[in-house]
Amino acid sequence: MEGFLASEKYMRRPLVVGNWKMNGSLTSNSHLLKAMQSCPAIEGCEIVICPPSIFLTQCLAEVSNTRFAIGAQDVSEHKVGAFTGEVSAAMLAELGCKYVIVGHSERRQFHCESNGLVARKAARALDVGLIPIICVGETLTQRESGLTFHVLAEQLDAVLNVIDTDVSSAFVVSYEPVWAIGTGKTATPEMAQDVHSMLREKLNIKRPNLGVDTRILYGGSIKPENAAALFSMPDIDGGLVGGASLDGSMFMSIAKSASDFGS
Ligand code: PEP
Repeated sequence: MEGFLASEKYMRRPLVVGNWKMNGSLTSNSHLLKAMQSCPAIEGCEIVICPPSIFLTQCLAEVSNTRFAIGAQDVSEHKVGAFTGEVSAAMLAELGCKYVIVGHSERRQFHCESNGLVARKAARALDVGLIPIICVGETLTQRESGLTFHVLAEQLDAVLNVIDTDVSSAFVVSYEPVWAIGTGKTATPEMAQDVHSMLREKLNIKRPNLGVDTRILYGGSIKPENAAALFSMPDIDGGLVGGASLDGSMFMSIAKSASDFGS
């Protein structure tokens, strides 16, 4: 199988991110986080929860002094000012968030986010020390038209042209085939590996070793049953998990699989 050396994979700490999307309540968040924390400790994997922004303060308090980190699901491209409803990168950082998702396909699809906008959001996050999780992914029509690599290259290049790539491991890339998100359809491990390998090549062209350092996640209907096969691939460093992150034991089982294939 094509891919980078297995030993290089061990330089990248596995990462599993739960994207709660627009789900939760004060009570259910608390129960879910407690259920996750009551699972056996997982040392070899970084675990991040991305709740709706209204619940960030609550979740940050609930996970303080634990192994969990908190991320936001989106950020404004603007620094400050008259942008009703928006949340700035500085606000997220001040609150204690470590990560922020940018360019999720639901933002691209339902909020018409362009590659340029996603790049500007990623740059804003980096400015304040937040780690952007940059989502890229093709639609089913694009895949069936043979455009997958072209679309992904355009999405990634737009970001790489704007952000400072001298800071290694300052950002994360997440490959999320749009046709696999919330549909129960998963890319096969081989399909995902092909794409991850291509994305890593592109990162290395931008700066030598950027591909070796950068974590590339897979997202799209990850479940405990398919996680191990995906994470065993040499260029898949963990997952961005939607539906299954709303179940504490399923999510932690996925994190355990990621940890099993890490350092
Ligand atoms: C996601 O929201 O990024 C995602 C991958 O969702 P799901 O796991 O439900 O497909």
